[in-house]
Amino acid sequence: MKAGEMLYEGKAKQLFLTEDPNVVRVKYKDSATAFNGEKRATLEGKGELNNRISTIFFQYLKDNGIRNHFIEPISPLEQLVRKVEIISLEVVVRNIVAGTLCKRIGLSEGTALPRPVVEFYYKDDALGDPLVNRDHISALNLATPDQVAQMREIALKVNELLKKLLAELQIILVDFKLEFGLDGEGKLLLADEISPDTCRFWDAGTGEKLDKDRFRRDLGQVVEAYQDILNRLGGKKHV
Ligand code: UDP
Repeated sequence: MKAGEMLYEGKAKQLFLTEDPNVVRVKYKDSATAFNGEKRATLEGKGELNNRISTIFFQYLKDNGIRNHFIEPISPLEQLVRKVEIISLEVVVRNIVAGTLCKRIGLSEGTALPRPVVEFYYKDDALGDPLVNRDHISALNLATPDQVAQMREIALKVNELLKKLLAELQIILVDFKLEFGLDGEGKLLLADEISPDTCRFWDAGTGEKLDKDRFRRDLGQVVEAYQDILNRLGGKKHV
């Protein structure tokens, strides 16, 4: 494959090769999907907002010692990132009960958890991304026990850093999903995106949802909510 060729297309992003074999170009799309791809829409402006928001979060995490794949934004929709082999796990951290956790443990949305809860889900669309434990992860050879321990530790650090940043902006970090990858040398790096598509953000004053739940639940004003997050983070719309 040559520089410029598409390496992969996902629900929300496309990945392209560059001249540097260790670097890929990510292009954010305006498409929104939920419920394992069953619900779909095009939300004009979402790609740019997520590119900008994810840029700010990854730069902030890098500045605070969290090694990650992010290099730099190069256009309103695109950023350069280090090429990694994505580990087939979604690492979710929760501070407040919401989403699928309500059904799993029977607590109502908005219940504060006494301490953060970390969960691992197996990235497999056909299985509907099931919750897995350390033994399942070993059995499927998805990551080593040491990598699982590292992912958990990094996820909890990311939680503390993001919670602090967002609290200053009157945003409650309810929960979020991270993905990790291995670089050419086998080093574990935080990867993928951190945006209102992958986090739950509630306004600290009103409790208003400022994330993808607006799309999932047909609450309207989806792009406006993402723009509100970017504005509070002090980001400009165009790179
Ligand atoms: N999440 C995600 N991608 C997924 C599943 C979940 O980014 O495929 C995020 C979601 O936006 C939320 C957190 O992970 O911030 C926890 O999601 P949950 O397990 O409650 O599932 P959901 O209700 O989002 O289906």
